[in-house]
Amino acid sequence: MSNRTFTMIKPDAFGAGHAGSILKHIENAGFKIKAMKLTKLTAEKAGEFYAVHKERPFYGELVEFMSSGPIVAAILEKDNAVADFRTLIGATNPAQAAEGTIRKLYAKSVGENAVHGSDSDENAAIEGNFFFSAFERI
Ligand code: UDP
Ligand code: MG
Repeated sequence: MSNRTFTMIKPDAFGAGHAGSILKHIENAGFKIKAMKLTKLTAEKAGEFYAVHKERPFYGELVEFMSSGPIVAAILEKDNAVADFRTLIGATNPAQAAEGTIRKLYAKSVGENAVHGSDSDENAAIEGNFFFSAFERI
């Protein structure tokens, strides 16, 4: 069972002024913030982060969207962090996300869907390391 996951508040949600509400939602669900930064990805960096989706039809759009504005990146800690965070954010497509989930509350579309959540312990570690050095985390 993992105890850490990685998240981003995506450009749509940050731009709409929802960062504070989303962080409150995350903390209220019992996740502790272990690292956090506000940054803006270049298209090159966004492409690298989402390289696993390179062959998917939405890759170009995803890279463009993820580099279109500021994002908040964070490492979160909780028992069963990866699975519990995926439950908290809801389905990729907000139209299919459960009531009360972050994507149901704040996402606009399957592409502009407010938040990222790692899909495995291995990817949580890779993604956290992509954004944070040892000095930037607790
Ligand atoms: N995405 C998209 N169109 C799709 C599927 C995904 O634009 O049909 C975007 C969306 O922003 C999603 C990201 O690509 O969050 C990564 O897709 P994944 O299947 O990993 O979904 P997630 O793990 O974020 O729920
Ligand atoms: Mg994913």
